[in-house]
Amino acid sequence: MIVQKYGGSSVATAEKIRGVAERIKQRVDRGEKLVVVVSAMGKTTNSLIALAEQVSQEPSPRELDMLLATGEQVTSALLAMALCDMGIPALSYNAFQLGLTTTGSFNNARIMDLNLSRLRMQLERRSVLVVTGFQGVTPEGDVTTLGRGGSDTSAVAIAAKCGCPCEIYSDVPGVFTCDPNRVPGARKLDYITYDEMLELSSLGAKVLHSRAVEIAKKYSVDLYCGSTFSDERGTCVVNSLPEWLEQPVVSGVTTDSNQTRLTISRLPRSMEALSALFTGLAEQGVNVDMISTVNENGHSHLTFTVVDATEKAVLRTVRDVLAPWEGWSVSEDRNVVKVSAVGVGMKSAPGVAARFISALSRKGIAMLGTTTSEIKISALVATEDGNAALRALVEEFGLGE
Ligand code: ASP
Ligand code: MG
Repeated sequence: MIVQKYGGSSVATAEKIRGVAERIKQRVDRGEKLVVVVSAMGKTTNSLIALAEQVSQEPSPRELDMLLATGEQVTSALLAMALCDMGIPALSYNAFQLGLTTTGSFNNARIMDLNLSRLRMQLERRSVLVVTGFQGVTPEGDVTTLGRGGSDTSAVAIAAKCGCPCEIYSDVPGVFTCDPNRVPGARKLDYITYDEMLELSSLGAKVLHSRAVEIAKKYSVDLYCGSTFSDERGTCVVNSLPEWLEQPVVSGVTTDSNQTRLTISRLPRSMEALSALFTGLAEQGVNVDMISTVNENGHSHLTFTVVDATEKAVLRTVRDVLAPWEGWSVSEDRNVVKVSAVGVGMKSAPGVAARFISALSRKGIAMLGTTTSEIKISALVATEDGNAALRALVEEFGLGE
């Protein structure tokens, strides 16, 4: 058996849903059994959120999930109907019916389990089950969703539980060295490792939900990303590259614009102040990313970025926790993006940071902060430099066509 997942743009219209059914039929005709996970049609999830905001300033997370979960249910029923029409007796299921239980954190729930015997029993009698992506149900019976883009995670989790491969279909034919919409000439990769994909997904690449990659890695799920609309070869996400393939130093570059930079100047130099600051932010659930400090004459100048945060709340926290100290000031800047280069080859190749920095500096791009890990280098740059920075890195590391 195999798990397939079709994203929103692949099922955006009735005609496209019939097209997907056609593709599934070809596989059934070859004797395969499929569990097909679907997203909501097109931009349905966005429309539902907008609708919620029309009736409430701050929609209750529980009710929001109740609403958002309808999107995937529409697609799964329609796809099952289209399949039946082609003579393939498919059945659709939502998370509740499959016992796909999650934690109770509405809007961002984590999958805990799945009723495998139910799924297996149904699949014994027919070739195709269609399952709603993105949603789950708590042990108490409340509907939850897995966070934006979460259908990938549903698909990989089902594949992990069934011990079978997973194919993710969308409107892009695989994983690219860089977003092809931003850098013309970005190259499609035949293979990418779980570790690289994990970094790229969490650093802003939208091809795959990062939790889907996490689960794939943990359970060694065979993962393939390809296009719904062509038979062009896609990308295999693997544990390590086939031996005959040389590991590039950098496999991909990406940007993340969900960052806000905060600068605190002239903070009295004190570990106590720093620890109060970051403890305060952590207590508010603020995700702090890049941190740098410069010390001068008994003062610290501190910059850090926060991810996906509302600046107002962050500024309020900073002012509250640093109130016991005097003489400092804080400013914020939304106009920044984080540009990252990722590659497992970095582990064994010295000089990558030098090439990264020189590539940006040759184009006159200022770096406002950096962070690195074993397999990635990130720099914070002004938003207007984002595209130029990507192009410089694509050129430097030979990532283009
Ligand atoms: N429909 C959901 C979203 O738009 C989940 C998904 O498509 O993966 O975020
Ligand atoms: Mg997606």
